[in-house]
Amino acid sequence: MAQPIIEIDHVSYRYEKDNVLEDINLTINSGDFLGIVGPNGSGKSTLLKLILNLLKVQKGSVKLFGNEISRFKDWQNIGFVSQKANSFNTGFPATVFEVVSSGLTKKLGLFKFMGKADQAKVLHAIESVGMQEFAGRNIGELSGGQQQRVFIARALVSDPKLLILDEPTVGVDVKNVQSFYEMLDDLNKKLGITLLLVTHDIGTISDKVTHVACLNKNLHFHGNTAEFESLNINEMSEIYGHDVHVLTHNHDHHHHDKGAGR
Ligand code: ADP
Repeated sequence: MAQPIIEIDHVSYRYEKDNVLEDINLTINSGDFLGIVGPNGSGKSTLLKLILNLLKVQKGSVKLFGNEISRFKDWQNIGFVSQKANSFNTGFPATVFEVVSSGLTKKLGLFKFMGKADQAKVLHAIESVGMQEFAGRNIGELSGGQQQRVFIARALVSDPKLLILDEPTVGVDVKNVQSFYEMLDDLNKKLGITLLLVTHDIGTISDKVTHVACLNKNLHFHGNTAEFESLNINEMSEIYGHDVHVLTHNHDHHHHDKGAGR
């Protein structure tokens, strides 16, 4: 049976006077691959920060693996890759293997001898993101998408049950987005990792996610992929509070911008 991994119950949040999240109710079950979409400023990062305990819950409750977040301790069960992870420049002196190993440093301590079992774990994590050929390469020589895979491997090395990714396809070349999603799909389907992916971009939600949540201060929609795809353009516009064509345009524009110089 599916177990609730994240339970968000009547959560509202404000930094200043006005709520940036309003009465959010959202449950993510084990095995889900949820894509949270919403325009810039819709509260996606704020929601993630609440889930990661980087912001204190003001109103409502957040439970992780069945426990109230204030009492939750098993943080090794949650892997997180932030938005700005894949931006090492070419000179950065660390190999893929070393970067992924640093996901174990809490346990190992820096510069301690690494046993066979830990080495195997690191290699396994590198394989599960399809980067085995690059284990000895310097991280800075890799493309944005390859670096993103390495940071996912770094998050996987402690064997998390839930993996949270903030805008993971931002640095990924448009032509590699599909295979990037296939890799995430394998993590979800083959390794059984519950995935939560945030994007400001309705266009990057592929057929791989099992569920979609649309956020724009309120949670305007939450359902499985089939329900999401059956929404018509008017319902979509309503969800976003403005014209979807504008969003589609921004989507292309955004990728164009981010692609430049990479
Ligand atoms: P998203 O991730 O969807 O772009 P955010 O959660 O970052 O949205 O922001 C939601 C709203 O909260 C925005 O209006 C943003 O300007 C505001 N906001 C975010 N962080 C802060 C902060 N530290 N202080 C004040 N306002 C903030």
